[in-house]
Amino acid sequence: MNDAPPRSDALVFFGATGDLAYKKIFPALQSMAGRGRLDMPVVGVARSGWTRDQFVERARASVEEHGGGAHPEAFPILADRLRYVDGDYNEADTFTRLKAALGDAERPAHYLAIPPSMFPRVVSQLRLAGCTRQARVIVEKPFGRDLASARELNRALHDAFPEESIFRIDHFLGKEAVQNILYFRFANAFLEPIWNRHYVENVQITMAERFGVQGRGRFYEEVGVIRDVVQNHLLQVVTYLAMEPPWSTAPNAMHDEQAKLLRTVRPIRAEDVILGQFRGYRDEPGVSPGSRVATYAAVRLHVDSWRWSGVPFFVRAGKSLAATTTEVLVELRGAPPVVFPEAAPRLGNYVRFRLSPHVAIAIGARAKRAGEGMEGMPVELSVVEPQKDAPGRMGAYERLLGDAMAGDKTLFAREDVVESAWAIVDPALQQPPELLEYEPGSWGPTAADGFADDVGGWNTPAERPDAMPTP
Ligand code: NDP
Repeated sequence: MNDAPPRSDALVFFGATGDLAYKKIFPALQSMAGRGRLDMPVVGVARSGWTRDQFVERARASVEEHGGGAHPEAFPILADRLRYVDGDYNEADTFTRLKAALGDAERPAHYLAIPPSMFPRVVSQLRLAGCTRQARVIVEKPFGRDLASARELNRALHDAFPEESIFRIDHFLGKEAVQNILYFRFANAFLEPIWNRHYVENVQITMAERFGVQGRGRFYEEVGVIRDVVQNHLLQVVTYLAMEPPWSTAPNAMHDEQAKLLRTVRPIRAEDVILGQFRGYRDEPGVSPGSRVATYAAVRLHVDSWRWSGVPFFVRAGKSLAATTTEVLVELRGAPPVVFPEAAPRLGNYVRFRLSPHVAIAIGARAKRAGEGMEGMPVELSVVEPQKDAPGRMGAYERLLGDAMAGDKTLFAREDVVESAWAIVDPALQQPPELLEYEPGSWGPTAADGFADDVGGWNTPAERPDAMPTP
């Protein structure tokens, strides 16, 4: 018996004239078309006053600029699928015309690539227009601004859609490298015995960006670093690193473990967070001259679980830092300095997951240096480094939109997971500590340098994926 959920038979694409659509979504749709998976109409909805032809031209410009050369032969298929409904989301008539444009589609997936303030309005108009029966809704982050607004948003979504039809995108979960954390942990037996407080000294997750807000100052002013990447992407990574083995890969089995893990993470207290803002941020277009928005955060998480009690999880993220890289370093306790006392350096054994811009998994060890003496050196056993163009490799948006249309919820954020993540960061948002200035191109405020000193300090990721971190 095949009990797979039915595929959506149309994709409705709110925000089709926006920035995200241009940079990510049209290229993802073209790749889907290239793999023969875009077998449904794609209806763009926005209020730019465009014709269908202008919409198709926008799609063409998008794939030429951002498609990375993937499946250019599939553009005519994509173009053929595209339809366009012009209208304001505040007006019921827009949704009446959308219903007409959907024709005989019975199971549309509504993708909301729009400002979050518009979610409740669009969802309720969809319901009133009779567009929600057997439908799915795919929503973009951010899911609220704090715990209270996330709950409100979830209530608004539930007015029109049951939880099993709501797909909350966290594009980090669509990344191969992030999925590989889960795979590497649970497809190998050798990690499990050491993956706990007895062998792990600390965990450090760094998401560093060399660039600033890249002209998106107005957007960033509403968000800041904690809402932009810590509450969602980086806490999702923490769950994959720290959760217990799920009983299967069924979406609910995974989400149960993620939710359980997040419930063991203490809400962040003022002494466990450092916030910074890079010098020059206030001169960016769209940024207030007196802005108090943080572009850097370093957070110490306490995970009060049997497995992790006492093991600090450090999460730091920032813009205008010294490198562009996202990396996880799970530092293991060192060998006793008994046989080879010199083999107890500051950073000895570790497991390193490079998440971007390249993918790598490496194990840090010591090996003997050639010569008479018993002297060692740090080495890495690098276990994975797939090529960007490996066959089957998909961009995150292609993967996630495809999964949503197939009704597979595994890589989407469930309501309670999102709310638990907000509960962790909420205190730091409600009562933030002093905002510290830092130099662009540095590793954040100088006060952050000593933040991890009780575990020997930060391990600074190298920009090259195959290079070892610097203790
Ligand atoms: P934009 O502001 O660029 O686009 C907003 C879109 O919504 C436009 O198509 C706009 O249409 C449409 N829109 C807004 N209000 C109305 C309305 N009342 N009636 C009809 N259309 C309306 O936003 P982004 O594309 O940057 O972001 C969209 C969502 O994706 C947000 O939730 C954002 O947080 C999220 N996101 C964005 C990322 C990015 O890189 N841009 C990355 C990750 C998430 P029109 O132009 O015709 O006015």
